[in-house]
Amino acid sequence: MIHELVAKTQAGFSDLFGYEATGVWSAPGRVNLIGEHTDYNEGYVFPFAINRRTFAALALREDSTVRVASSFSDDIHQVDIANISSDAKNEWAAYPFGVAWAIQQLAEVSPSGFDCFIESDVPVGAGLSSSAAIECAVALGLNELWGAGLDRRKLARAGQLGENEIVGAPTGIMDQSASLLGEIDHGVFLDCRSLEATPIELGFSSADLELLIIDTKVAHRLVDGGYAARRAACETGATEMGVTSLRDLSIEDLEKAKEILDEVTFRRVRHVVTENQRVLDTIRTLREAGPTAIGQLMHASHESMRDDFEISVDELDTAVETAIRHGAIGARMTGGGFGGAAIALTPIGKISEVTLSILAEFEALGYAKPDIFAVSAAPGAIREV
Ligand code: ADP
Ligand code: MG
Repeated sequence: MIHELVAKTQAGFSDLFGYEATGVWSAPGRVNLIGEHTDYNEGYVFPFAINRRTFAALALREDSTVRVASSFSDDIHQVDIANISSDAKNEWAAYPFGVAWAIQQLAEVSPSGFDCFIESDVPVGAGLSSSAAIECAVALGLNELWGAGLDRRKLARAGQLGENEIVGAPTGIMDQSASLLGEIDHGVFLDCRSLEATPIELGFSSADLELLIIDTKVAHRLVDGGYAARRAACETGATEMGVTSLRDLSIEDLEKAKEILDEVTFRRVRHVVTENQRVLDTIRTLREAGPTAIGQLMHASHESMRDDFEISVDELDTAVETAIRHGAIGARMTGGGFGGAAIALTPIGKISEVTLSILAEFEALGYAKPDIFAVSAAPGAIREV
């Protein structure tokens, strides 16, 4: 079934550029089911691609000009394919430009210019990685049109490289891996040390479960240095424990960690070590007992982020506890913390009760109105037409 936004993307392209696009490629946003603040400790994450997608209509040009436009904004950004750099004037176009630049670094191509028009229904800035969606849609399309021959794992790397070097965001490879390697009703188990990515069946659809996203609208306060401080504590913990990264510690090592680390660093370390174990336990539990059995692990992940890593906020705690009280199987904050979204694994029959309860609770407490919607695990990037 062709997505309704495909025709809109084609029309957007031809209205703007005056000719038909060669094709339309799409890629999904993602949500992280479990495994938070484990990526930069070379640990495990378990995201899945969601049924919200970004579409890129593309056509190669005879010359070396690149033009990109999006339904999100009125301006057309233009650059010469040989002159892509990390210029602040790129604004949002840094994402498609970055990918075009990164593919040239990773593949033997003699790239021509191209025109690109973007449509999307991935919410921006809700922690669902609208950035990876745009990168991966453009990456898959350019890979094909340029004959670059990169496989999906290399294309994920291209998305990351473009985001690091041209956008200037020091992010990992989780988002792009989920967006490119996702499958219907599967999560992508990613080992952030080996970068090995394995699709794992979730079984949500046969169990009539969906994942509610509760976007609290509380702005990420990463600027306060909370995120940097957590990364620093993890590095200190690893150094003092004599390991390259916290990935090398297991639950048994926590006893020793408690003796030699200061109290705060110990709790930061305990979050990462137990969270890695929870990702592995989630994979095993899904296989052995099915998705209704992973609720405890999700909640333990939330408590660990709230109490040990100290990155939750009242709105996230309220969303999690209210969801569970009203029938969610499990819930946790997701993403970097200090705001952003919570997720709640919820039986379809309970979705409206959970949603209405959270809305009522937030209103009673005087919090801003959250945005609440359900997602399911969808296929990764594809060529649509
Ligand atoms: P997230 O990835 O969590 O949604 P980011 O800050 O990483 O948040 O990326 C959001 C940015 O990606 C937007 O500010 C914009 O620059 C760009 N972006 C995402 N989707 C689109 C789109 N459809 N059109 C134009 N730019 C987009
Ligand atoms: Mg992003």
